[in-house]
Amino acid sequence: MNTHQTEALVIRNQDFGETDVLLTFLTRGAGKIRGILKSGRKSTSKMAGTCQALNRLNLTYYAKEHADLSKVIRVEMLESHDNIRSDLARLAWSSFYLEMLLRSTAEHEANEELFEAASFYLGVLEKAASPEVRNLSLFHLIRLMQINGFAPLMSQCVRCGKSRPLHRVREQSVFYLDSRKGGVLCSSCRKKAPYAKDIHELSPLGLIFLEKSMSLSPAEMEEELSREDSPKELLDYLVEHSKYQLETDFKSLKFLKAFTEGTY
Ligand SMILES: [Zn+2]
Repeated sequence: MNTHQTEALVIRNQDFGETDVLLTFLTRGAGKIRGILKSGRKSTSKMAGTCQALNRLNLTYYAKEHADLSKVIRVEMLESHDNIRSDLARLAWSSFYLEMLLRSTAEHEANEELFEAASFYLGVLEKAASPEVRNLSLFHLIRLMQINGFAPLMSQCVRCGKSRPLHRVREQSVFYLDSRKGGVLCSSCRKKAPYAKDIHELSPLGLIFLEKSMSLSPAEMEEELSREDSPKELLDYLVEHSKYQLETDFKSLKFLKAFTEGTY
């Protein structure tokens, strides 16, 4: 049997040749897969509308063993997330999330936790009150980084390995993180660090938000998210950190920065 059926999120939709569409899905059953929607660029294609990025659907596809590309056979809409699509701030955050997901996930490796986390994020982003969009999105970006194994290392200095004294979070005025090495720096390594541009400062508020995001469940985090805005420098760090850890740039970042910096 080469025909499979699974729940899927559309994470990318690209033109492919004259008439087809190349789709990238995150599926519950088979992880990240790419599939061709034949004649998807034709205006008569009924499936093309269902296969827009952000949609959650029931997907039936055909895949030969060891083949790189699948063939989309049937799709059935489960959730279209229209509120995300019609609100530019939500769209900017979700586009960045999907791009980070795309670039940090290997193909053909089923990961139920990742699928649940991404579906959950889009579901709550769709319904969230506007002031919560930013904190909610940052929290889910950090969860994604954890699930895909490239979250910042916080328990010890990434250069010398010295454990970080946890009780001093509120006393210390600023924390240093190294985006190239991927985590927190002790003060003596901070002084010796050779690449100043890789060193980021984080306030206690930023550090607490980051650590809570890495240890609390979405339900436990709910109250935190509505309490206060996450510090701006936290997003800047996570972006630089991810660029190094994934060795990539993010196309959707310009769009997101325009919103977070209020220049859009
Ligand atoms: Zn150190």
